[in-house]
Amino acid sequence: MSEPVQVVAISATSTAFTAVCEICLGIDTAVGLTASTFAGRLDLDLPEGVFLCRRGHQVTVARVETAAEPARTAAA
Ligand SMILES: [Zn+2]
Repeated sequence: MSEPVQVVAISATSTAFTAVCEICLGIDTAVGLTASTFAGRLDLDLPEGVFLCRRGHQVTVARVETAAEPARTAAA
């Protein structure tokens, strides 16, 4: 009963997002549709949230803190 939960990353300054539900993408592709995206909103004080797509699949949206900054600890 434990399906893998999809995680969508959004930038640190984003409040609104459009995501693709991977489960719906598979369903829609099979029947020839392309409407597997859904839109949501995550307020800036929340690091992540759980949303449901239009079919009710669970998708976690997580804020990426350092999207544009390279890791400084990486070996040169
Ligand atoms: Zn879905």
